[in-house]
Amino acid sequence: MNSRAASIKLLTASELGNVPVNSLPQLGEARAKLLGKLGVGNLFDLLYYLPRRYEDRRISRADQLKPGDNATIKGVIAKVETSSTRRGLTIVRAEFRTGQGAVTAIWFNQPFLTRSLRRGLSITVTGKVECGLFGSEIAVADYELGDAQDAIHVGRIVPFYSATEDLSQRTLRRIMYKLVKQYAPWAKDLLPERLRAELQLPPLAESLMQVHFPSDLEVLKRARERLAFEELFLFQLGLRTIQNTIQLQGVVRRPQSDLSDLFVRSLSFDLTPAQKRVLGEIRKDLSSDRRMYRLVQGDVGCGKTVVALYALFYAVAAGYQGALMAPTEVLAEQHYLGLQGWAERLGVRAAALTGSIARREREECLEALKNGGIDIIVGTHALLEKEVVFDNLGLIVIDEQHRFGVRQRDILQSKAPQADVLVMTATPIPRSLTLTLYGDLDLSVIDQLPPGRQGVKTYFLPSAEKQRAYQFLRKELAAGRQAYVVCSLIEESEKLEAEAAVNRAAELQEEFPEYHVGLLHGRLKIEEKARVMEGFRGGTIQVLVATTVIEVGIDVANASLIIIEGVERFGLSQLHQLRGRVGRGEAPGYCILIGSPQTGEARDRVKTLVKHQDGFKVAEQDLAIRGPGELMGIKQHGLSDFRVVDIFQDAYLMEKSRAYAYKFTGQINAEILQEIRYRFPSLIYGLKF
Ligand code: ADP
Ligand code: MG
Repeated sequence: MNSRAASIKLLTASELGNVPVNSLPQLGEARAKLLGKLGVGNLFDLLYYLPRRYEDRRISRADQLKPGDNATIKGVIAKVETSSTRRGLTIVRAEFRTGQGAVTAIWFNQPFLTRSLRRGLSITVTGKVECGLFGSEIAVADYELGDAQDAIHVGRIVPFYSATEDLSQRTLRRIMYKLVKQYAPWAKDLLPERLRAELQLPPLAESLMQVHFPSDLEVLKRARERLAFEELFLFQLGLRTIQNTIQLQGVVRRPQSDLSDLFVRSLSFDLTPAQKRVLGEIRKDLSSDRRMYRLVQGDVGCGKTVVALYALFYAVAAGYQGALMAPTEVLAEQHYLGLQGWAERLGVRAAALTGSIARREREECLEALKNGGIDIIVGTHALLEKEVVFDNLGLIVIDEQHRFGVRQRDILQSKAPQADVLVMTATPIPRSLTLTLYGDLDLSVIDQLPPGRQGVKTYFLPSAEKQRAYQFLRKELAAGRQAYVVCSLIEESEKLEAEAAVNRAAELQEEFPEYHVGLLHGRLKIEEKARVMEGFRGGTIQVLVATTVIEVGIDVANASLIIIEGVERFGLSQLHQLRGRVGRGEAPGYCILIGSPQTGEARDRVKTLVKHQDGFKVAEQDLAIRGPGELMGIKQHGLSDFRVVDIFQDAYLMEKSRAYAYKFTGQINAEILQEIRYRFPSLIYGLKF
């Protein structure tokens, strides 16, 4: 036995990943193919294809059965009977003897069973206990014949996997049992010896075996915890590695003027305590020689823009250039307009670099950036282009970070390796997740809305009652307020989406001849978009029919109503972002969701929005409804690479794994790096080795 164990060559994750399941002698071609459909293509996939749930089917005493319980009983078959009901239902009953008396097992509509249920055979059955005429009966959910020592489907804690119609639960379970038992011992434990000892972690092979076929619940818990911890630990090490490749040495930025304070003092409102706190954190970062790498997170409408502007003015006052990058033209334009007003008053030179500016203007802008003639530049990802060169870029602010990948973040950084970085996001990621996702950033949270906000009241109307939404629209317009009407994408086609918006705008214009209906969609020329937004901002356009181009950042305080059509076609986070366009001033905001959600999931989304206003609550629901991989913007952070970790269930492990990753960064060797790369491909995307 020992010599056999010693002869096993241990394989790392990527080496296991190099063994395709169709090369395994225990598995036929057809089965391998079916596994492939489940996403199990190689040995690593297989070992980490974990059960979704378990059922405790350990054997109970026959004299302690309670009706209503689920129980598993083992005995020897004494008698088998078949009967039929008047409706033609076949019932097979097998009486079997146990050490604690007789029990009857019942199967419905499986007449063929009489062939295999033979007197004298031992049998284990599991199912619901019922009170029968002659003692306890069990309505059989699953059973196993014979005295097999390796009980798989009954007589133990039984795993349940995601199976398919072609590959039944029983078949899959049998495959897993055979293969996991065989190959789990091959898996090489990469956790540092000291860590394993310190945390008293069970060995990897045993944990894998136990997590599939647990010997008892306590052991299962420890095994799962070990695997989850390992996964989080490696993930955090990956984040640490990114962090280590980032230039940490920053520049002390000392303002030579009180530009940023002037800015705050001349605002028409007082900053919220949360905003003030965050400004303090940013100021501290900027004036230290450690490089700032900070995420500002706050729900839609909490006032992130002033925080960004403050930081930019602070950098300018210290003699550096600042860059503000937005994910869409429309938002970049809005930021520029806002900034320009301040810049003029404060004597700061601001410019915009978007796709819309004319060639000559662009060249002048690039030239001025290079020779220091511009203090603050606002733009889209056009800022990432090679020709964009700065004189002395000191601060990069990235708005609505979820729209950019880790990689884009890195490119902008490489233009000024010592520039401070401030990232803003409204993506309402649950607090328990932020650490995992943004482990490489320091975090500031604006957890407060400006005073006087009355929130956004959200309603749902079935498509047939659309007219009621228009009545409400008429009322808001009569009160001098403005509204958005959002048409969803009919299909994944910008063209069709644009067409839908055009039609809706025409229809609304006819319905409301006394008002001005504007139109905004992705296929309009940039200048046209700017013109429409200007009209809406200025109030000459009262109703703005738009596609989701308005989703992020747009800020028009007088807009009080947003009508979203085809609600079933949007994701939850997206809907929350959209409704965040209203209720941004002191007047209450209204959001009317229109559609005909057919699936339970779509209905859940609508319910969640009607019920919750807080973006964090919405995001938590979003995760619960859809699962982590799909939460907006998360894919690129490697979250969806998790095979073991369940971010809610394992939230308690995150802090610990992060702490240990810090402690053990020094022990990263090539093999562990390789493991991280293999296990978190999306994380590694942003890694520079
Ligand atoms: P977001 O965090 O969604 O980017 P914005 O920065 O666009 O939000 O701010 C939303 C609106 O709230 C803007 O019109 C802004 O001027 C206003 N605002 C920001 N901070 C405050 C405050 N402390 N008091 C009142 N209004 C504020
Ligand atoms: Mg914003």
